[in-house]
Amino acid sequence: MPDDSQMHPATAAIHGGAPTTGGAVTPIHPASVYRLPDYDVMSRVFTEPLDISSYARFGDPTLTAAEAKLAALERTETSLLFSSGMAAITTVALALLKPGDELITARDIYGTTHTFFHRYLAERHGVTITTVDATRPDEIRAAVSDRTRLIYVETPTNPLLKLVDLAAVGAIGRELNVPTAVDGTFASPINLPAAALGIDYSIHSATKYLGGHSDLLAGGVSGTKARLAPIRSLRLLLGNLPSAHTSFLLDRGMKTVAVRVARQNENALELARWLENQPAVGRVFYPGLDSHPQHELARTQMHGFGGMLSFEVAGGLTELQRFIDGLKLIPILASLGGVETSVIVPTVSSHYAMGVAGRAELGIADTLVRLSVGIEDVADLKADLQTALDATGRSGS
Ligand code: PLP
Repeated sequence: MPDDSQMHPATAAIHGGAPTTGGAVTPIHPASVYRLPDYDVMSRVFTEPLDISSYARFGDPTLTAAEAKLAALERTETSLLFSSGMAAITTVALALLKPGDELITARDIYGTTHTFFHRYLAERHGVTITTVDATRPDEIRAAVSDRTRLIYVETPTNPLLKLVDLAAVGAIGRELNVPTAVDGTFASPINLPAAALGIDYSIHSATKYLGGHSDLLAGGVSGTKARLAPIRSLRLLLGNLPSAHTSFLLDRGMKTVAVRVARQNENALELARWLENQPAVGRVFYPGLDSHPQHELARTQMHGFGGMLSFEVAGGLTELQRFIDGLKLIPILASLGGVETSVIVPTVSSHYAMGVAGRAELGIADTLVRLSVGIEDVADLKADLQTALDATGRSGS
């Protein structure tokens, strides 16, 4: 078997972290505790990083296999899995930041991450949060102080699909000696090689593209062993790792991530181009469109433009409601990245708490719809979208 790091992502997704049992699939190890063979092992297992299972909060063989597969996909030395994407994000932040430190964060980040940074880290933990427009790396550089201990960005962003230049952010981090982290959930590791672009912590909500079937909750962080060591230590204390059953589902889901994402990239590009020509649609936001202001960056930084797009329904709230209720195939789902196409309206969900002024500042219109494009036949998706657009009375047909 070749070394995991020599495989291309589509191969690593299948063979990376291969089970040592000889079986074609990773077994589920449900034990919460493992027999220790003798006194010598017992006396060392709690203080030394021995490569054996002892207690499930420290890890289990199913988890280890899934982590090895994720590391192979991410092309990093190692990966750590968590019980959710938020568990991954919060553990990274808590492990790296102490009272008095400064966190530089992008303005456009997932709402719950924003709440955690501002309501918990700042208000209860004494961390200074400095918010920047991360689409301008110079703003990040200018914000770094001698107290900065982490630069945190997200790309592409939710819901407007803005991009952050990760090579530039990684270079700033190295030059000024500040670790960098990216939440690349919207892209998946298939489309976004964060570590190769120089980012220290590549974070994903594995609930989305990595799992891919809307049947699990998990998160992952990938990087070097040295960078991940404090995060591993904190996970031992918090115990916020996925169960063996979840690790199994994730390991199984990851095997098809490259083909799923390739199809999602194709379907999303086709739908984005089609939506741009619909009279009942206002602006369309998708990194693969020539009209996207950072299309050139998308071409150099991403291997594919992703399955996420958003667009404005022409008109007002009446047309928006008619459109959403006019969809017959595509469900309303408060998640993304699954094999099924789904919609959500950010104004009443992920970005509700931000308020009218906050949304206006980011450029989020009331009629914005976020589409997570799945792997269905794109003709059926178009037909469903067309029916719903016709229902708005604005499509002229
Ligand atoms: N990051 C992004 C970009 C997300 O969209 C989400 C969830 O929607 C998360 C993180 C949090 O992931 P989880 O729901 O697995 O905790």
